Amino acid sequence: MRQRLIAGNWKMNGTGIDLGEVAKFKGLSIPANLTAVVCPPSTLIHRMSELLSEFAIETGGQDCHQLEAGAYTGNVSARMLADAGATHCIVGHSERRVGHGESNELVRSKAKACISAGLKTILCVGETEHERLAGRTHQVVGDQLSESIPETANDRNLVVAYEPVWAIGTGRTAERTQIEDAHGFIRSHCSKLLGSRAAENIAIVYGGSVNPKNSAEIFGTRDVDGGLVGGASLNGDDFAAVLNACQD
Ligand code: PEP
Repeated sequence: MRQRLIAGNWKMNGTGIDLGEVAKFKGLSIPANLTAVVCPPSTLIHRMSELLSEFAIETGGQDCHQLEAGAYTGNVSARMLADAGATHCIVGHSERRVGHGESNELVRSKAKACISAGLKTILCVGETEHERLAGRTHQVVGDQLSESIPETANDRNLVVAYEPVWAIGTGRTAERTQIEDAHGFIRSHCSKLLGSRAAENIAIVYGGSVNPKNSAEIFGTRDVDGGLVGGASLNGDDFAAVLNACQD
């Protein structure tokens, strides 16, 4: 059975006081086939990882620099995230690709850095609304996968997050048929890149306005192995509800 993953992306939200949300995970039971991760801002990773260890929930970074160390003011390396307690790191989020001009090539070097630091990489791919309307979804997502997955990647150190850009933070969730089509395409493209066995085992999660109300339907869709959750992960009760919706 494929390992499922739910990751919460706090984005640039949260200070020490918000760590209190973790208390809402009390009583939650995470099954062995589900990996739960919270990705707070880097400033909270250390404290968050200590608090979450009690709940069998892991901690992740939201981005990293592609190099290990050096004169890169303001950046954080994958090795530093791992040292702070992270086990996962998101790379290629559309807010980085679009907002910071990150290319597939840069995303690939960040994914490679995560893997060398022992972090599991959550690689985000997804089309803009304009690209979808132009019928280019497969082409865009295929190129992102081909150009962003490093040669060191496999089904144990990589998770693919399909995040249609138009569904992120908008309250517009992709339709079930759109999700099924994109995830099926991603799995078959991963088969070409990583081999059929890895493609069968790799977790492909959906992101884009997932919330406690729509999560059960999304997680019940073919080829969906969990979710990347932004807004709804900021509230501990909502994130716990999403985690509960991903249990068979
Ligand atoms: C995200 O940040 O990756 C995301 C999917 O955000 P939201 O759930 O708020 O759409």
